[in-house]
Amino acid sequence: MKNLILLGPPGAGKGTQARTLCETFGFVQLSTGDMLREAKEDKSELGTKVANIMAKGELVTDDIVIGLIEKKLASEKNNKGFIFDGFPRTLAQADALGNLLKKINYNLDCVIELYVDDEKLVQRIIGRFSCSACGELYHKITKPPKKPRICDTCGSEDAFNYRQDDNENSLKIRLLAYYRDTSPLIGYYHALNKLRKVNGLGSVNEIQDNIRNIIL
Ligand code: ADP
Ligand code: ZN
Repeated sequence: MKNLILLGPPGAGKGTQARTLCETFGFVQLSTGDMLREAKEDKSELGTKVANIMAKGELVTDDIVIGLIEKKLASEKNNKGFIFDGFPRTLAQADALGNLLKKINYNLDCVIELYVDDEKLVQRIIGRFSCSACGELYHKITKPPKKPRICDTCGSEDAFNYRQDDNENSLKIRLLAYYRDTSPLIGYYHALNKLRKVNGLGSVNEIQDNIRNIIL
């Protein structure tokens, strides 16, 4: 069993890489962003509480996301391992994850930092969308669906979904939050000898190969 963290700014490709790793190797992806968006869709109390924060691009409080991860770790059993995507995002979250894993006797095997420069991140994020039925990720310019309005993967029609926070304003705030609150985790995991760096520029397959070389 391998447990990994994918670390990197918004648009670095964490979600794309996590999806492929899960499909190929049976890992379970734990994305706090997806969990929070689900809570928003369900119109649950939590969802309403975090909707504004997310739309602005600010971070949701540590106790909320730590609570979400704790619940998932308790309910999602698998023997291949977990890929943490978008979590931890603060030092407090990293400490909490360490404690949660220790409690259930899981090891954190490695932290993969996907690095990409800011200009590229903006291009990637402005124009991206996904299929609400199967989660497949698309981009207006770099990865449009083969037939307009139809998902290549599951065939759903008119199910494409644009994230509310994928606009230039909120992206600026998300990038700031990354450099201010999340990038200290690079040093944190480096000190624990868990950090591996992967260039997030390049084709999805190249990056996937580089990640596989590290974790397999
Ligand atoms: P991205 O990495 O592209 O910004 P995510 O889907 O990971 O997207 O997160 C979207 C939003 O959800 C964040 O901007 C933030 O408001 C909230 N969020 C997700 N994960 C966390 C977390 N671990 N801590 C705090 N807020 C989070
Ligand atoms: Zn689909």
